[in-house]
Amino acid sequence: MAAATESRLALVRRARRVNRVLAQRYPDARCELHFRSPLELLVATVLSAQTTDVRVNQVTPVLFARYPDAWALAGADRAELEEIIRSTGFFRAKAESLLGLGRALVERFDGEAPARLEDLVTLPGVGRKTANVVLGNAFGVPGITVDTHVGRLVRRLGWTAEEDPVKVEHAVGELVERAEWTMLSHRLIFHGRRTCFARRPACGACPVARDCPSFGIGEVDPQRAAAMVKP
Ligand code: SF4
Repeated sequence: MAAATESRLALVRRARRVNRVLAQRYPDARCELHFRSPLELLVATVLSAQTTDVRVNQVTPVLFARYPDAWALAGADRAELEEIIRSTGFFRAKAESLLGLGRALVERFDGEAPARLEDLVTLPGVGRKTANVVLGNAFGVPGITVDTHVGRLVRRLGWTAEEDPVKVEHAVGELVERAEWTMLSHRLIFHGRRTCFARRPACGACPVARDCPSFGIGEVDPQRAAAMVKP
């Protein structure tokens, strides 16, 4: 259990221990979006805002077949594009982003998704979170993705009190080995989706409970907590 007076070294050790335990608990943690290229992951990640990865995966086979490259995306008929992505929500804004994304890739990056954070964040609809997802999963460049799960979990775990995603990213990056950043992000997201829920976490069935200062904010009874855990 973390103490209020926890030293920096103890915090680093605790964070790395949590990462190792989560790696054992979620050996199949990965990016849950389906993609075959950096461009496809870029598009899928833009679509994933405010919806589930499952829903995005239902739409992308048709989308990628219809628009197989940045040139096709840049020249897409807006109404047709909107119709294909409609079920992901906010489809007008997302279609606008995808059209702009296609154009920007054609005009500035020879139709390829760039492999640098500073380039990725200049693309329409692409923020730092999306850029880190693409870097980590399509290019193998370690990146920490601070989505709603990661932000909530690292604060509950007492790794940082920061709310700002960029500050969270830097704070977590100082605790855990760089090579672990991408997988740590997946493990935290898996844990947030399956056990450490936003409303009522299943603390009694949590593998990192002994290293979590927030243990007890959710269900602590082992049996009831185990029944809450999602497969
Ligand atoms: S002990 Fe509870 S709050 Fe802490 S990580 Fe586990 S489920 Fe989340």
